[in-house]
Amino acid sequence: MEGGLCPPIRQMFWWTQPTPLEAHSMTQASDFGPKFPQLRMRRLRQHAALRELVRETEISVRDLILPLFVRPGSNARQPIASMPGHDQLSADLLTDEAKAIVELGIPAVILFGIPAWKDLTGSAALRDDGVVQQAIRKIKSAAPDLLVVTDLCYCEYTDHGHCGVLIDRGGRSDVDNDATLELLAQQAVSHAKAGADVIAPSGMMDGMVAAIRRALDAARFDHTPILSYAAKYASAFYGPFREAAESAPQFGDRASYQMDPANAREALREVALDLAEGADLIMVKPALSYLDVICRVKQAHPEVPLCAYNVSGEYSMVKAAAANGWLDERRTTLEVLTSIKRAGADMIITYSAKDVAQWLA
Ligand SMILES: [Zn+2]
Repeated sequence: MEGGLCPPIRQMFWWTQPTPLEAHSMTQASDFGPKFPQLRMRRLRQHAALRELVRETEISVRDLILPLFVRPGSNARQPIASMPGHDQLSADLLTDEAKAIVELGIPAVILFGIPAWKDLTGSAALRDDGVVQQAIRKIKSAAPDLLVVTDLCYCEYTDHGHCGVLIDRGGRSDVDNDATLELLAQQAVSHAKAGADVIAPSGMMDGMVAAIRRALDAARFDHTPILSYAAKYASAFYGPFREAAESAPQFGDRASYQMDPANAREALREVALDLAEGADLIMVKPALSYLDVICRVKQAHPEVPLCAYNVSGEYSMVKAAAANGWLDERRTTLEVLTSIKRAGADMIITYSAKDVAQWLA
């Protein structure tokens, strides 16, 4: 590390000699121009307008996608205790909701469904009158310009809460990858038929993007893009979401399909595979504890639009701390979102979208 120290401090480490590479980089650093006291970085921070002119990253409401939770029934609004400001809504309430979202300047929503009933295979997910399918139609008729992304998975629809159908592996239950692909393909076509603009598979099944692409193309939805949750981690930060979507696994965990939080290089393999299978947009989830993954994915694939999911736990932590007077909610939220964009995200799914829209209006 001492290769990066300035020469006077370096002289204190008299027992180490610079390697040729270190000597080279030190020469390069001094080639940049004058150093202190001629160079003073604080000069560019003296005036607010100048700070704005040199600002590298700016968050805009146009970068944001708002998640919505849809429940059965009519005129039903169920507050989500762990996510202040968010409710489960019945489809009929989405007419006013969609108009309000457009009014705020938020360009897109992502839908999660809580079905009327759950079973072993999540069959409620495939119905034309399912909660998400109804919600898409409501939003599209109320606000045709609002982009509707649908989350594609089975954890909200199965009674066991896992992201697909189960298989017995010698006494251990696991999600059957290839049988789940077939269901995901049908679910994608059902969403597209209802009018979804973007399909976002989140189950981390191998081959899911290719299976969905094939099915969409065969059903003449070749124009419908796929936003793949390419690098989705088995994260503790999903806690509040599981209350919101009523999707907690009834046994075990999701470690056999979602990624190990310890792995970053593996994310590059996941992303490359999904791109090869035809993903149009890719996602890293969660965002805040995975800024390095966002950065690496952006560096590896700068040409591909990258989405990051600022997940429920990240949102609820800030809300809880702000409610206790421990953090400034507005400044903290904007700093979090700015850091996600600075790391390389082009768009952010965030529960803070409405707050941000009001703050930046
Ligand atoms: Zn799932």
